[in-house]
Amino acid sequence: MTVSPKLRECDLYRPLKNGVVQCLACNHYCAIKPGEAGLCGVRRNFDGKLYLVTYGRAAAVHIDPIEKKPLYHFLPGSPIFSIGTVGCNFRCQFCQNWEISQFREFYVDPKTGEPDRWIGEYWPPEKIVNTAESYGVKLIAYTYNEPTVWIEYAHDTAKLAVERGMRNVFVSSGYETKYAWDYIEPYLHAINIDLKAFSEEFYRKITGTRLKPVLENIEYIGKEKWGKIWMEVTTLIIEGYNDDEEQLRGIARFLAGVNPNIPWHVTAAHPAYKMLHIPITSHETLIKAYEIGKEEGLKFVYVGNVRDPERSSTYCPKCGELLIYRDGYHVEEKWKERGVCHKCGEKIPGVWL
Ligand code: SF4
Repeated sequence: MTVSPKLRECDLYRPLKNGVVQCLACNHYCAIKPGEAGLCGVRRNFDGKLYLVTYGRAAAVHIDPIEKKPLYHFLPGSPIFSIGTVGCNFRCQFCQNWEISQFREFYVDPKTGEPDRWIGEYWPPEKIVNTAESYGVKLIAYTYNEPTVWIEYAHDTAKLAVERGMRNVFVSSGYETKYAWDYIEPYLHAINIDLKAFSEEFYRKITGTRLKPVLENIEYIGKEKWGKIWMEVTTLIIEGYNDDEEQLRGIARFLAGVNPNIPWHVTAAHPAYKMLHIPITSHETLIKAYEIGKEEGLKFVYVGNVRDPERSSTYCPKCGELLIYRDGYHVEEKWKERGVCHKCGEKIPGVWL
C-alpha cells in the first residue's frame, strides 16, 4: 500500500514481528497490528509503519494566560498560545476535555491522508508559530489533551518555536517514556504534570493507567532536570476519591521528598464526562489539602478553580512577604526585582525572565 505523503510517520516506535510495531511514546508501550491504532486512537499502523494521524490537526486553539495551565512560577502574567488535538492515553472518567480527548470514532484513509470526519483544523507547525508571533505571544503550550500522544507534532512545532526565540510548555499527565523525554527535552522549558491521586487503584480504575510511571517522571524532572525544565504539579481534588488524608499527605510528602520547591496546585473538580455524580469540590477540602501541603514541607502550595486570593498568591518562604498577588487570572507583582524577595533578599525558585 502506498501511504499518503501527507501522513507523518512517527519517530517514536520500533518494529516487532509480522508487521506489528511497538509505540515508544508513553508507558502503555502499545503493540499495534497493521490497520489498528494504539490506546490513544491517534497512532496508527499502516503497512508495518506507525503514523500520527492527528499531525497538523489541532482540535482546540486558544490564547490563555499562563496561570491557566497552571504555572505560577514561570513568566507570570504572560499569554500563551495553546493547542490540543483529539485522542489521549488516559481514560480519566472526570476529564474536563473529554469531547476531544476521548474522541475515537474516526478513521484516516492512508491513501489520501484525509480523515472521514472533523478531527481538527489544519494547523501545521509553521502556522502555529507564525500565528503566535503575529499576536506577539512568545510561549506555546501543548495542552488540552495529552501531548505525549502527538509528540512528533509537538516536537516539530517546539523546535521551530525555539528557532524563533520562543519557549514551550507541556501540560501533561506524566506518562512519558525515556524515549519521549530524550526527544522533546531539547525544546521544552516548562511542564505542569498532573498527579491525579496517590493510589494505584485510583489510577487503574479511574484513569486506565498506572501511578508508578507518573511518580518516576516527577522524580526525574524534579531531580535530574531541575534547573533545566521548570515543573509544577497539579492535583484535581475529587471528594470521595482522592481527598482522604492518607492520599493528600502521601502526595505532599512525595513531592517534598523530590524537591520542596515544586509548586503544588490543589484544584477544585466539577462534575464531567462519566463522573457527573461528584460534587464541586468544597473550599474547605481545598484548604485541607493546602494545609497538608504546607505541613509536609512544600514551600509553595496554591488552591485553584476557586476564588481564594490568600491561598493563590506567592509569599517569600523565608520571611512571609507577599510577592505575587493573584485573584483568579488577575496578577499583581509586588517585588522590585522579579525572582527576589524585596524584604529579605531570598531568591524565589522559578523562571522569571
Ligand atoms: S502514545 Fe498511544 S499508541 Fe503510543 S504507547 Fe501511548 S497509548 Fe499506545
